Amino acid sequence: MKILIASPEAVPYIKTGGLADVAGALSKEFRKMKDTVCLVLPLYRKIRDSLIRLADTGISLNIPVGGRIVKGRIWKDRQAAFFIECDEFFNRLELYGTADGDYSDNASRFAFFSRGILEMCRSLAFTPDIIHCNDWQTGLVPFYLRTLYRDDAFFKKTATLLTIHNLGYQGLFPASDMRATNLGPEFFNPEGIEFYGKVNFLKAGMIAADILTTVSETYSREILLPESAFGLDGLLKKREHDLFGIVNGIDYDEWDPAKDKLLPATYHVKDLSGKTLCKRELLRMLFKTARKGREEQVPVMSMVTRFSEQKGLDLVMRAIPEILSFGVKLAILGKGDERFQRSFRELSAKYKDSISVTIGFDEMLAHRMYAGSDYFLMPSKYEPCGLGQLIALRYGTIPIARKTGGLADTIEDFEPLTRKGTGFLFSDYTASGMLDALKRAFCVYTDTDKMQSMIRNGMRKDFSWRRSAQRYRELYKTALLKGKV
Ligand code: ADP
Repeated sequence: MKILIASPEAVPYIKTGGLADVAGALSKEFRKMKDTVCLVLPLYRKIRDSLIRLADTGISLNIPVGGRIVKGRIWKDRQAAFFIECDEFFNRLELYGTADGDYSDNASRFAFFSRGILEMCRSLAFTPDIIHCNDWQTGLVPFYLRTLYRDDAFFKKTATLLTIHNLGYQGLFPASDMRATNLGPEFFNPEGIEFYGKVNFLKAGMIAADILTTVSETYSREILLPESAFGLDGLLKKREHDLFGIVNGIDYDEWDPAKDKLLPATYHVKDLSGKTLCKRELLRMLFKTARKGREEQVPVMSMVTRFSEQKGLDLVMRAIPEILSFGVKLAILGKGDERFQRSFRELSAKYKDSISVTIGFDEMLAHRMYAGSDYFLMPSKYEPCGLGQLIALRYGTIPIARKTGGLADTIEDFEPLTRKGTGFLFSDYTASGMLDALKRAFCVYTDTDKMQSMIRNGMRKDFSWRRSAQRYRELYKTALLKGKV
């Protein structure tokens, strides 16, 4: 099968969130399955400035965007990843915006990218069987195929699948940005890509893609309900038969405590002594504790997260005194909304022996926190899949999470009597709901046998990509068949 994965980010090139892990890992799995797979990304400044060696394909693009022609150029690496260069749009500090807000021309940037993807295929004479689009940034690709490219023989057999990684991000723009898309006014209505007076790029993809997926089964059901659908439940209900949930995996080569080069010590399920060393180093690094001090006995709970409303940070902030009353050390790594950054900085200054806050995106520290902690906290308001809990399980760190979306699908609540389960779940989105789960979790902390059972249960779970990649492949076939009807 000839697969094109179109994504605004993908590991190992560029990452701001879980979407990057998905796009990168899927490409790798399909390559292992001997499919022809290409990845296409914008050529952001961060990729250009990285150590990745890119070659100029010599192919240039002329893309109409809002009444003018914007030039692009195609670059490529050795792994069949393609990069669309356009300095005007992508040679910037960040991907989508800064702490002050989104870039004001995001509609033009990603209309250019989406159309550029299709023009790139033509220039390379690469006819994909399937274009796997990801999130609003590529939502226009299926829509263009059904409209501007409808009679184009080149794409006659190309099917599309759109993965919605997070319905909370839809690519919503003022009506005036309709011009940027080069789509006529006839598409700006509620049956088209209008959404309450705005242009909605994700909706475009949801209308036009042959198959829709989300990143867990529970989330695929949750988004049919008005309270979780950000206004798109009507459309999703209409497309319910084409909507599937496939849980994400993690890259088991990158996330492997037995081989992880970013850790001070490695370990595996049969010998966890390296994990103790990781904890010691983490404590030293973040809390400046003495080597082999008594503080090593204290439970360490970590969070590695985007600082956004969705992640349940307000619950954590509200419950800080109660959380600390459990005698736990809390380590937080994240970046995002300024209001959370400020509040957490203040909290770490106030409780510097118990709370460590690192603002920024730090791959090495993330690995060390997953390995060196006892617990991993994810009190998300909603969570389409979540990768943090999967990584935590792999690293023998017990997840404490809200029972929503992918967290509900991948964590089993611990049963002290049977010793079955891998973590602690709570349902109500309240500080007291979260504190109940924390209480249950910390009660087991001193019971070595129970802790060891739970750690091992988690480490033995298989959340590698293989199974999910196979499932996507089946859906690609379904999409292709739909195109033939
Ligand atoms: P989302 O995609 O909503 O941000 P996920 O849990 O699906 O959340 O994926 C987040 C991924 O990004 C995980 O691999 C997590 O370890 C990583 N991550 C998030 N924030 C940071 C950070 N500040 N530094 C390093 N890695 C981070």
